[in-house]
Amino acid sequence: MTASPGSPASPAGPGTPGGPVLVLNAGSSSLKYQVVNPAGGRALVRGHVERLGAHGLADALAQVTAEVRAAGLSIDSLAAVGHRLVHGGARFVAPTLIDDEVLGALEDLVPLAPLHNPPAIAGIRQSAATYPGLRQVAVFDTAFFADLPPEAATYALDRAVTEPLQIRRYGMHGISHEYVAQEAARFLGRPVGELDQIVLHLGNGASAAAVRRGRPLDTSMGLTPLEGLVMGTRGGDVDPGVLLHLIRVGGLDAGDLEDLLHHRSGLEGLSGHHDFRDLEDAVDAGDQLAARAYAVYCHRLRKYVGAYLAVLGGADVITFTAGTGQNVPRVRADALRGLEALGVRVDPARNDRVRGGPARISTDDSSVTVLVVPTDEELSIARQVAALLAGL
Ligand code: ADP
Repeated sequence: MTASPGSPASPAGPGTPGGPVLVLNAGSSSLKYQVVNPAGGRALVRGHVERLGAHGLADALAQVTAEVRAAGLSIDSLAAVGHRLVHGGARFVAPTLIDDEVLGALEDLVPLAPLHNPPAIAGIRQSAATYPGLRQVAVFDTAFFADLPPEAATYALDRAVTEPLQIRRYGMHGISHEYVAQEAARFLGRPVGELDQIVLHLGNGASAAAVRRGRPLDTSMGLTPLEGLVMGTRGGDVDPGVLLHLIRVGGLDAGDLEDLLHHRSGLEGLSGHHDFRDLEDAVDAGDQLAARAYAVYCHRLRKYVGAYLAVLGGADVITFTAGTGQNVPRVRADALRGLEALGVRVDPARNDRVRGGPARISTDDSSVTVLVVPTDEELSIARQVAALLAGL
């Protein structure tokens, strides 16, 4: 194959085996980046470019390069570039070295994640052009859930319609759910293979996972990141009949629905606040719409916790993670309120103290241990990239 700008099939050198990994998380309008030592510790470089223009990736990576050098590192000292991909479809169930064929297959998956995968693919192309000496590796947020049991992965729709279109539940935030389940076990000094866990990833996007002995049994996101919990701007579960009604009676088309479901629903749609800090301030100021949005958010969470206690037949651990899960004690208390009969007891004083974690917030007599564990998706990606390269 011929090397051309933007082609990851250019003869990439091996980078520096065992070196730090540049982790890129390209979104529709921003690029998050970190240089991470897979062995752990603080990120060597960390940053965020907001408001990326259509042609802004080259400039953003120039900034990354400058910061890598300012940190006393060289691009040649890196092991590889790891890219976070939201959707791997049915094919990508493990970290994957990117070449032209893989890139083509990623393009084919765009219809499954039209808002999320294209910026990541653009990031891969630009990274391959900017760093031709480094391997590019894709790590997938769906991969952990690739072996969801069929009863959890299957929509009860006419399979003659859904199967040719690869419509099934894929699940997202898998990088975080897997990492946090392992870290929760580590915190407790127990093998992950001995624990049944519920992981609640509550960030701008939010999802729940039921994890049996380290493997996923169910999760709240489905074909897309729209299903499940109430989120910053997505409403999660909705009667599909609502969508039909919006089309027939409300006059909405697919583009309108996409905008409504992704950007104008959830906490934002109910209260005008998508950021949890703003929502809390509004609740405390007596804003009734904010109070209702908060109540809907916690009610949905409690329903999923109850459902996953049933799916697992009881859990050893419930863990809160991500921005809201780690930093908002009242959500943890309110989501688990009233579950004492199911063995879940949060200690109010312990809970109120914890921002970040790792920490235990359940009472000593709670039969389910409730934890707060910080997620670290970049470290997880760096480790997965390093493990892939070590096996080549
Ligand atoms: P993502 O990675 O999905 O963009 P994060 O995990 O960073 O999201 O979580 C973002 C959410 O966490 C926002 O709603 C934000 O308000 C909330 N959050 C982060 N830090 C705090 C805090 N200290 N107090 C309250 N909410 C917080």
